[in-house]
Amino acid sequence: MPIDPQQQHLLRRLPGVDQLLLAVDEKAELQSIPRRVVTRAIRETLEDRRRRILEQATAVSESELAPAALVAAVTRRATQMQRYNLTRVINATGVVVHTNLGRSCLAREAIDHMTAVAARYANLEFNLEAGRRGSRYSLVEALLCELTGAEAAMAVNNNAGAVLLCLDTLARGKEVIISRGELVEIGGSFRIPDVMTRSGALLREVGTTNRTHLRDYQQAVTTATGLLLKVHTSNYAIVGFTAAVGLADMVALGRQLNLPVMEDLGSGNFIDLTQYGLAAEPTVQESVAAGVDVVTFSGDKLLGGPQAGLIVGRKEILDQVKANPLTRALRIDKLTLAALEATLRLYRDEAQAVKRIPTLRMLLCQRPEIEGKARCLAEGLRDLGDPRLEVSLRDLTSRAGGGALPLMDLPSCCVGIRLAGHSPNRIETLLRKGQPPIIGRIEDDLYIIDPRTVQDDELDIIVAALAEIVKRMPA
Ligand SMILES: *Cc1c(COP(=O)(O)O)cnc(C)c1O
Repeated sequence: MPIDPQQQHLLRRLPGVDQLLLAVDEKAELQSIPRRVVTRAIRETLEDRRRRILEQATAVSESELAPAALVAAVTRRATQMQRYNLTRVINATGVVVHTNLGRSCLAREAIDHMTAVAARYANLEFNLEAGRRGSRYSLVEALLCELTGAEAAMAVNNNAGAVLLCLDTLARGKEVIISRGELVEIGGSFRIPDVMTRSGALLREVGTTNRTHLRDYQQAVTTATGLLLKVHTSNYAIVGFTAAVGLADMVALGRQLNLPVMEDLGSGNFIDLTQYGLAAEPTVQESVAAGVDVVTFSGDKLLGGPQAGLIVGRKEILDQVKANPLTRALRIDKLTLAALEATLRLYRDEAQAVKRIPTLRMLLCQRPEIEGKARCLAEGLRDLGDPRLEVSLRDLTSRAGGGALPLMDLPSCCVGIRLAGHSPNRIETLLRKGQPPIIGRIEDDLYIIDPRTVQDDELDIIVAALAEIVKRMPA
């Protein structure tokens, strides 16, 4: 493409990298940033200006190419490059177990224990009693058994890994019978049928999407059958004309045919949520008590701990699972184990657990408390005194997320924000790109903040971020 005289003029005004390096050397803010980062920021800034000039001469003004402006742009870029890619965010979505936002915030006890273990050597695989090699799997086994009533237990990297490991151990090259109504897809492309294929197990679907009967399982059993599998339909529900086979019947059938029964619970849960007014979510204890041979669940969904896959069940089965070489590829690391052990210990006292574990606390948080936070936030925003800022309280609902309580709306009191002359999308973008990023949602053309998932000390940060936006927005 031919370059016009104005473009040529602008391109000639761009300094060289070395020239700009000398200019930025005087910038105090850049002294602590590694040279290679600064050089890279310079190259990228110049490249960006050059590209924009070549695209369209009018895209770049003369003043943008002034040395001071270029130095400022380099400083911004270099500072940005020094920020962590993985950063804390404020979850104002009201989705408690938000997979994209890291699922569960850890309890103080878990964080402290993790930090303590991280900074020092630990008895990760060393048996202090015997003074010789130990197993990392023994560190939470007794605790998991105590809490769930199972004979044996282990923890691996995540629940998808736990499912894979169990299927590979129990049903490699054999058929696994599962109801058509339970062929779950979890967000992030975890699909039960795909995991099965990977494990080398053969999927044998029975029943229909909405109805599966015991006779469907019975008729599907052959000498090739290796396992009966039940998967908790964690992120959806089939309602209306439905039938599913209960755990007790499946266990009885398994016993009768000498086949192991496995259940993937998805979001593992130790607490009867109905006593707090929530819908029933199956508990791990119920599955164990029903006689299921092996149960898998996540550490970081409703349980509120770190990412982990927990496997509990009969000793004979767990012995086989532990002996599978795949275990080595799915092994849990010491920081996760530390956080997991501390989280599990909190469950020894349920009253403590619901207070100390943030996921449970937010899930069980009652409307009056949320309304208190909403009022506090709304007041802070009104105190900014900008007539363009319209703030209202809204009766909306939060969600549990993480594939739990899919049909349950949790009543919440949200703050709706409108800034006259600007779209809610604009507010959403600016808050999302701030420091720390604030993630809310848009509903009915309003920017919505759900205080359920906002921590008390984050309310001021939200007010400050909006104050900054209001200040920058032209009236
Ligand atoms: C979430 C979920 C999984 C996957 O668990 P991760 O911990 O994300 O690996 C598997 N099965 C079910 C039913 C789930 O809900």
